[in-house]
Formats: sequence, C-alpha cells, structure tokens
Amino acid sequence: MKKTLITMCAAAALTATATPIIPRDEAMEAEIAKRVASMSLEEKVGQMCEISLDVIWGYNDPGNAPINLDASKLADIIGKHKVGSILNVPGRAVTPEQWYGIVKQVQDVSLKDIGIPTIYGLDMNHGASYTIGATLMPQNINIAATFNPALAHRGGEITAYETRACNVPWTYNPTVDLARNPLWPRVWENYGEDAYLSSVMATATVKGMQGDDPNNIDRYHIASNVKHFMGYGAPVSGKDRTHSSIGDQEMREKHFAPYLAAIRDGHSLSIMVNSTTNNGIPFHANAKYLTRWLKEELDWDGLIVTDWADINNLFQRDYVAADKKEAIAMAINAGIDMAWSPTSTDFCTLLIEAVNEGMVPMSRIDDATSRVLRMKYRLNLFSEPNTKWTDYPLFGSKEFAASSRQAATESMVLLKNDDATLPLKKGTKILLTGPNANSMRSLNGGWTYTWQGHMTDEFEISKKYKTILQAMQETFGKNNIIYEPGITYGKTDQWKGSWGVENVGDLDKVTAAAASADVIVACIGETSYCETPGNIDDLNLSPNQKELVSRLYTTGKPVVLILNEGRPRLINDIEPGAKAIVDIMLPSNYGGEALADLLIGKENFSGRLPITYPKHPGALITYDYKKGEVAATMAGMYNYEAKVDVQWPFGYGMSYTTFEYSNMRVDKPSFQSGDIITVSVDVTNTGNVKGLESVLLYSSDIIATTSPDVRRLRAFDKIELAPGETKTVTLKLPADDLAYVNYDDKWILEKGDFRLAIGPLATTVTATETRIWDTPNRN
Ligand code: BGC
Repeated sequence: MKKTLITMCAAAALTATATPIIPRDEAMEAEIAKRVASMSLEEKVGQMCEISLDVIWGYNDPGNAPINLDASKLADIIGKHKVGSILNVPGRAVTPEQWYGIVKQVQDVSLKDIGIPTIYGLDMNHGASYTIGATLMPQNINIAATFNPALAHRGGEITAYETRACNVPWTYNPTVDLARNPLWPRVWENYGEDAYLSSVMATATVKGMQGDDPNNIDRYHIASNVKHFMGYGAPVSGKDRTHSSIGDQEMREKHFAPYLAAIRDGHSLSIMVNSTTNNGIPFHANAKYLTRWLKEELDWDGLIVTDWADINNLFQRDYVAADKKEAIAMAINAGIDMAWSPTSTDFCTLLIEAVNEGMVPMSRIDDATSRVLRMKYRLNLFSEPNTKWTDYPLFGSKEFAASSRQAATESMVLLKNDDATLPLKKGTKILLTGPNANSMRSLNGGWTYTWQGHMTDEFEISKKYKTILQAMQETFGKNNIIYEPGITYGKTDQWKGSWGVENVGDLDKVTAAAASADVIVACIGETSYCETPGNIDDLNLSPNQKELVSRLYTTGKPVVLILNEGRPRLINDIEPGAKAIVDIMLPSNYGGEALADLLIGKENFSGRLPITYPKHPGALITYDYKKGEVAATMAGMYNYEAKVDVQWPFGYGMSYTTFEYSNMRVDKPSFQSGDIITVSVDVTNTGNVKGLESVLLYSSDIIATTSPDVRRLRAFDKIELAPGETKTVTLKLPADDLAYVNYDDKWILEKGDFRLAIGPLATTVTATETRIWDTPNRN
C-alpha cells in the first residue's frame, strides 16, 4: 500500500493544462520563481509549516491587555525554523486591537528574520467568530436554508472585512462538505446535504471573502479555505473524523462538486483536507484526490493545507506509515503543501531529512513553497503585511448587523402550522419554556468566541444581544411572557465532551404555569458543541426534553415547538401533539429577534430545509436517493414506489401565505449537450400577506444505465410577491448538468427522457443523443 501511494505521487508532478482555473499573473509568477530559486531547503520547508499560537503564547488568560508573545519561542520557531504561518487563538476570542498586536509581533519577526511575511490563519467560521464585537452571521446550515446566495456572499464579505480588521488575512472557511449523515456533529457547519445548493452557497461565500480578483486581494478581503476536502460529511458511523466508503462515481458527482465550484467559480485560494479515511486510504495520503483531481485536472495553483496534526494520523491511527518521517513524506508527495504541525517543529527537521534521503523530490518542495508564496503575494502581504483595526469603521456596525438579522429571518423554517396557530397575536399570553429559551450559546452554536462555543453566555458582549426570552418579552410585552425553563443545560468542559448535560427542574411547575397562558412556546434542541465532543449515539431529541414536551401536551394548551439545533434531532413521537413547529437551527446573535418578528407575523417565513429531516433512527436517507434504497426505509418489501418515510423532506418549508404555480414551460423539449434549457413558471401569491418564495427546479433521469437518483436540485431562485401578485420565474438549466458519472468514472449525458419539476408542476424533456466526456470535469 505504502509503495503504491508513493509511486502514484511521484508520477503526479504538476502538469499544467491549457487554461489554469485561476488566471495566472505572469509578473507575480516570475517574482515567485526568483524568490524560490534563492531560498535554502530550510527556508522552503519552513514556509510549508504552520504552527499553533499555543506554542508562542503563555497559556494565561489574555484578559483585555495586549498579549505578549514569548520572544525566545518566536526566535526558535521563526528565526531558526523559518516557519511561514501561524494559526489559532489564545484560548478564546480577543479584541481586534489584541489581534493586531498578536499578528504584528509574528509579522515583525518574520519580516526581520526571513524577509517573507507570515500568513496568519483563523477559524472565522460564521463571521469573525474569534473576535469580541464581531458581527456573527447565522451558521452555514442557516445560510443554506435561506436559499438566498446574496446572503452567503454578504456573510463572506462581512467575515472578510472584520477578519482583516484583526490583521488576519486567511480563514479556514467556508466548510462545504455535504452533510449526508445527520448524526455527524458538524452538520451545521455546512450547507446541507445537496451538491448543487452547497456549490452555489460555497461559491457565493468565497467570492464575498476574496472579492473579484484572486491575484490582487485588497485589505478588505481575505483568502478563503474550503474544507474539508472531501466526503467528510458521510461518515459510516455518523461520528466525527471517522471512515467513509464513497466510490469515485459519487465522490466526483456530489462530494467534489462544491470544491470544484468554489475553485472554478469562486477562485478559492486554498483547501483544507479531510482528517479521515475513505475506503481505507487517508485523504492526507491520497495523491489521486489531492494532486490529480485538484492540481492536475484543474490546473489549480492554490494551496493545500492539512487539518490539525493530521499527518500524525498516517502512522499513529491509520498505520499506512511506519513513523513520522515516512508519514510526512507520504503526505507531501500526495500533494500537501502546508502542514499544521501544530505544536512542534519536527515537521521541518524530518522533512529536510526526507528530502536529503531522496524520499521527497525537490521539485515537490519547490512547488509547495511556490504555492505558499503565491498566496502571500496574492494577498499583497509583501506590500501591506499588517492591517489595522482603526481602518475598519464598519466593524461591528449596524449595517452589518442588519445583514445578519436578515439572514436569520430568511433561514427559519416553518415546518407545521395547524389551525393557523402562528402568527401569534399581540397580547397573547405565552408560556416560554425549554432549555434553549434563554441562551445566546444555544443560538450561536460552536465556533463562537471559543471552539466549542461553550462560554458564549459568559462573555460580556453577549449582553448586547437578545435571547429568545428577551426578544419575546420585547415583542409581546414583558407581562405576556411567563418563563419557566423546566430544563437547563449544564456547563461544558470542552475537553470532556460534556456538552449534552441537562439539569431537569420541576416540570410540574412548568405545566402549572401553563394555566394562565394562551399558548406554550417550547424552545428545545441542543446546546453548542463542535467536532468530536458533539458525537452522539442516538439521533433522538434527549429523553428529558421529550418528557418536558409530553407534559406540556397534557395541559391542553396549544404547543409551538422551536427547534434550536445543529442537526435534525428526531421528534417523531412528539411531533403529532404540536400545533406548530419552527426549525431555527443556529441563527446566531440576531436569532432571538428574528424569531420574535416571525412569531408575531411582522416578518414572514421563507426558509427551506437544506437537509432531509428524518423520522426514524433506522431510516436515514438523503433526498436524492436511488429507488433501490426505498425498501430499506419502508415497510412493504419490493414496493419500490413507496414514499420514503421522512419527517420533512429536503426543500420543505411553509409560509404565512400561499403560492400557486402555473404555466410551467421549457424552451427546448428536445435538447442536446451544450444547450441551455430555459424553464419558466408563473408564481402567484394567493394569500393575504406578502412573502418570499424559493422556486426550486428538480430533475429526474427516467431511465439510465446507472440506476438514477430519484431527483436532483438543478436551479433555484427566491422571489418576493405581494398578495395577489404574479411573477414569472425563469431558470436556466445547462443540459450538461443532467449528466452523471458512470461506472467507468466518466461523465455521461444519456439519450432519453428527463422529468423536470417545479412545485407541483412537471414536464418531460428529451436528450436526443448520448454524450460521454473524456475530460474528468466536463471541461
Ligand atoms: C477542524 C478544522 C479547523 C481546525 C483549526 C480542526 O480540528 O477540523 O475545521 O479549521 O481544527 O481550528
């Protein structure tokens, strides 16, 4: 195995194709080549290494004072080992001014000792989330639920601006893995389960972050880093950082799609690698995916960085390498350009040895070094190595806050509304209950001020924002809200994975309080977690919370469930008793106010589920299943037409108004490869209030050589309609998007019929000839 991988890698030297996927700046390339030619092996290897701030910071709580880094450690890491990049946070979020000081200290040493600027990277994951006072956006799962790419773009822009205000030019975001297993604790960091929706959102975010010119990124933009390449969201076990078993057909057609889009359309400058293995091969040693698919086939000249200490997995976890030196050589040969060591410089010493012993060719080192330098040049770090918070007046501004609030509003999904229970009238007496009712932590989720987001309620800055309770009191009047949480979340120790601890209070007190209420609003779900500490063994909502809800039903008062959760926790047994259900996912700091506006009807719901909401623990399925999967999820053997039994399907979401679809038409009932099929439909608001409607176009390949997916999202648009108003929505469907990857790993558009569906309408179009592509990405 080892030998095969290494051989594959050696053969995988960068071969440029005709058109680089990111346009190249020849003057910049000449500069890079000149610099690389003048560098020693030690200097080159140093550029390929990224070390955590933990090593050069004293581990004491930063407080509000400037943070002084350890000069002797800086001298060792940068002066001696020539390390070219630093990442991470001093334990928790700090102010832009403190960030400036941290990065400036590293930058000064780097420029003095190496003559090359450092590149500092941070997980600014839903906004500049490691910064006090930054504008946090809803998490990516919410951004996807808006079906509004303009909001993704805006989120990218705001993140970039506020990250640069911290003197940081690089973020490890957006996270674009397809959340195919709902148990996975990182579902919420991504744009849902669908390849197309994720591709659109990924591209918009990257463009927002990087701006329009990837070769000249200004001081208001940053380099994006799409992650975690790839297939991370389909772990067989549902647990974080565990094995997947994805074939190349599905990999190419679905999991690769958002990466391709982020690079081809967004020009993302960097990619982080998936920590796990696929069919036994660690992604960090997979030359086929890293070098062939990304660098060679696309002629992409960006940077591939490891995830946290992941080269160690090759010898400590996966046993594909005998020791660290072999693991390093394997990863670098496979295509890794920069490694998070992250707490030791032995990566540098061992890689130098590996090169000297002939385990890694110098051409690979030169290529990797050029990629690191290219990103630094593209970010203009040589000419402007620092950016200062005082030059960013819009940091934490009202203008940015309005975008976050709009995104929160557009992301909330109305899943049920029997008897028009919602909106609630002003003056309604509301019993507000549940562990999520009064917590900024739960609204924000992980990557908020800390990795686990577990201290959010303790941060002074959180007082600036409103929990659901505070927003409901303001909107409905303090006297109309009775608050009895019933259950509260315990404190989390971020290293012990104790995020799920619940303290159950006096539930009789909650039901008794219902006597004087007209309606009960129960805020349930999960509190914040991130990565492995968020692993669960059971997708069901916690038994305590189900017990609370069941007790509420005994009061006879109408119950509205608010689901505030990072992944769809099963509520099959408590769903029938609820009059209305709203899934708010993780809407962040303005989520409380956005929800209150929606519940009182000041705003209308327009969010749609970006992920299937499952009903049964043993029936987890995605919307684009194949007919053959149905028997596994449904009683009734051999009934392949059976409806898949999910709680709510992907794309589902209600409104306070109703929309009628009519007059669906296509301009090319017969088409061939290269055509653009124009699909139009008239949409009318037939209700009494204005509303936003996402119009989704699905395709189904009727008969194909490879059993086809039942449906695939192909295009969408979001429109606003006043009551009685009709608009024509026109969607462009490139015929080649109807192709799939066949058993021979080739894209194929097969002759025959396709069903196109929008809302309740459908029509058939026909491909008149078959086309098979020889190029891997139909390029
Ligand atoms: C995560 C990455 C993240 C990195 C740095 C890793 O554990 O998997 O998503 O960027 O930590 O914080």
